[in-house]
Formats: sequence, C-alpha cells, structure tokens
Amino acid sequence: MSQGTLFIISAPSGAGKTTLVRELIESLDGIQVSVSHTTRGQRRGEVDGVNYHFVTVDEFEAMIARGEFFEYARVFDNFYGTSRPAVKALLEAGQDVILEIDWQGARQVREQLPDAVSIFILPPSRDELERRLASRGTDEHATIARRMRDAVSEMSHYDEYDYLVINDDFTTALRELQALVISRRLSLARVQESHGPLLAALLS
Ligand code: 5GP
Repeated sequence: MSQGTLFIISAPSGAGKTTLVRELIESLDGIQVSVSHTTRGQRRGEVDGVNYHFVTVDEFEAMIARGEFFEYARVFDNFYGTSRPAVKALLEAGQDVILEIDWQGARQVREQLPDAVSIFILPPSRDELERRLASRGTDEHATIARRMRDAVSEMSHYDEYDYLVINDDFTTALRELQALVISRRLSLARVQESHGPLLAALLS
C-alpha cells in the first residue's frame, strides 16, 4: 500500500476553508482531516474529538514537553497543534491527510516533510471578505476591523504555498481542490508504490 499525501490547507477566516474542506472529504474516498488540539474554548455546536481535541494549557504544554506535536503555534491568543502519532498512523495506512493550520504551522510541516502539498485559499475580493467577516455574529466596527487585520496578516503569507485557490464560486473552488488531491494520487511515486506488480507485469 502506498503512503498517503499530507495536504496543508490555510486561509484567513472568511475564505470558506472549513466548508470547502468538509465537502472535499465527503466527495472523495481515502482522505481525512486531522483533528487538532487547542486550548481555546469550545464554541456552540463544536464537538470535542470531532472539531478539535479541547485541552487545558497545562495539558497542551505537557504534550509539547513530550514531543507529541508535529507542529504547534499560538494563533490569536490560543494554542493549536497537530498530534504527530495520529497523522503518522493515517499516512502509513495509505490515507491522504489534510491539516487545516495557519502559516506558522505550515512552515514547521514543510521543514519536516518537504513533500507535503500546501494550498492557500483566498477570498475573491477585499469587499467580499469584509462582508463575510461582518456577517459572523457582531456587527461592531472594531471587531470587524480586528478580524480584517487578522485576515490580512494570514493572507500576507500566501506566497509560501504551492497552490492558490480563490473561493469565488464554491463549486469551482471545490473542483480545484479535488483536482489537486487527485493529481497527487496519480504522481509517479504514488502509482509506482500502489501498482508495482502491474507496472512490472506490463513490461515483462
Ligand atoms: P479557529 O479557532 O477559528 O477554529 O481557528 C483559528 C486558526 O487556527 C485558523 O487559522 C486555523 O487554521 C488555525 N489552526 C487550527 N488548528 C491548528 C493547528 O493544529 N495548528 C496550527 N498551527 N494552526 C491551527
């Protein structure tokens, strides 16, 4: 069985990453999202162990000390991290794995796994981003301005990624993500691993 591919997907809040990733994994077999650990509070509707593993700062620091994180970062006052054993087990089982992480985590993953494929999702315009951020609960000007600043700060790292997907039309953006996953599965190295006997038989 061939080893799966690790996909890093980053985006500013408001780009539609979470919905795109959910549809992506529903539309394809053999791909899963890694469930991160975080110290941030659980939001309404979130399920522990599904959206995140919600842990205390002490628990998070103990995991850092034990070297259990593949990557971790402080993002907007909270810690977020990816468990190394969990991701390793999925990749070794032949699953493609998506890490929905920020640019700091993406850098750490690239250093350790240069073959990881990194994708940045962008909104179609600044106005549209502002509109999407404004529709998240409060309309308070200062809150929206802060969300905009955070989004611009995340987007400033777009050129560190291998691929850019602009989420203007949802269906198009989803198709583009599917194409990236599928094209990787057809790469020489993966097909050589998954179809070794076929390749040998064809040339015999
Ligand atoms: P939220 O709190 O809105 O779910 O996520 C906030 C930010 O944290 C997002 O940019 C998301 O990509 C990032 N994030 C979520 N999980 C991880 C993780 O495991 N590692 C890193 N580095 N960032 C993460």
